[in-house]
Amino acid sequence: MRRKRGDGKGCLLSVLGGQEGIDMENYQRTSREMLDFVEKSPTGFHVVKNLTEMLEKAGFQRFREEEDWRMGESDGFYVTRNDSSVIAIRLPARKDWKGFHIVASHSDSPAFKIKENPEMAVEKHYVKLNVEKYGGMILSTWLDRPLSVAGRLAVRDGQSVETRLVNVDEDLLVIPNVAVHLNREINKGMEYNPQVDMLPLFGDGVEETGTFLAKVAEAAGVNEEDILGHDLFLYVREKGKLLGANGPFVLSPRLDDQQCVFASMKAFLESVPQSYVNVCAVFDNEEVGSGSRQGADSDFLETTLRRLCEAQGLPAGEFHRLVAGGFLISADNAHAVHPNHPEISDPTNRPFLNGGLVIKYHGGQKYTTDALSAARMKSWCQRAEVPCQTYFNRSDIEGGSTLGHISTAHVSISSVDIGLPQLAMHSAVETAGIRDTEYAVGALCAFYKE
Ligand code: ZN
Repeated sequence: MRRKRGDGKGCLLSVLGGQEGIDMENYQRTSREMLDFVEKSPTGFHVVKNLTEMLEKAGFQRFREEEDWRMGESDGFYVTRNDSSVIAIRLPARKDWKGFHIVASHSDSPAFKIKENPEMAVEKHYVKLNVEKYGGMILSTWLDRPLSVAGRLAVRDGQSVETRLVNVDEDLLVIPNVAVHLNREINKGMEYNPQVDMLPLFGDGVEETGTFLAKVAEAAGVNEEDILGHDLFLYVREKGKLLGANGPFVLSPRLDDQQCVFASMKAFLESVPQSYVNVCAVFDNEEVGSGSRQGADSDFLETTLRRLCEAQGLPAGEFHRLVAGGFLISADNAHAVHPNHPEISDPTNRPFLNGGLVIKYHGGQKYTTDALSAARMKSWCQRAEVPCQTYFNRSDIEGGSTLGHISTAHVSISSVDIGLPQLAMHSAVETAGIRDTEYAVGALCAFYKE
């Protein structure tokens, strides 16, 4: 027996057994599905590939930005940009649309990016790779773990160039720590220099340098000399897992923001729109400020929604009416109260793992939530019987930012910022709650079904 989506009791401390046992199976199933998605998605390019496969399977039609858009039989379609951002749209059967219902999240996570000419020989005994930081990660967490390389290649194809995704599916690299005997101060706080301390070890120097790209070419099934460009990132090889007494937590790389990406696409695909045009948008480059062609600070969302209106033959002004009548949920993970540092959270807004969806507030408007948009989000949670929590930064801590307020500067639509509670954000592996992914799916289904 499987419980109906969204009738969760939301009881943080309830015990296993009875109905709760059935609920736990459901939470576990959704969490394992989410972890499978994360494992298959070592980079934002893979996130978008996996999302588009889900959309294709559900019968969505692909539109390309450089082509004419002719609406076919399908009521759903999607567009990608740069292979790393995607916007999927599903139309309700009735024609008197009330507005756009959008959930926005991000495909990228902090990582190290491989530079051009990356191989560096060390005294003829080691080959290491030259990398740079992508986003603001906790550097030390990348040390002493099996790592590999994945991303996108630009490959010569006759007279043209095509792109190819690649994942070198083996334990290929490690960034070794310095032994405590050689740095007795290491546990007093260490400043890591990304050009010195964070370069991954690739080989033992027995082979000449020049083997890295050959390795990548082999994994991609292309000739090394045909690789004309690459966007390659290090990724953590460890698989996500459930842990804790009776398995209440998930530990996995890239939960920020793939947990929200997964939950929003799952809700989008499970929901038949009634009065609103449903939109699931996943943007790249949030971790570096969203300012790229495919980021939230681009015209991607606005252009896509305008072209939809055009392709539907809607009169001028309809775009503005649908924006004014619409709503955007910006979904990006939130900081839960830390078990070892409960004092760094706000004194009265204290989200916990497994406590439900987090509504995020910021007086300086880094989060878009206001009284009205919070109330609407709470009503969708109530409808789905999903618990929700609130997040503010402590007033003396600056906190982070996300893509909601950047998106709404382009498409000025009512908006709320939400996230799922997690610990160790931007660590190589992050910790979240087993129930919260399912809670998010439930609440977002209520939104998409309105
Ligand atoms: Zn994020």
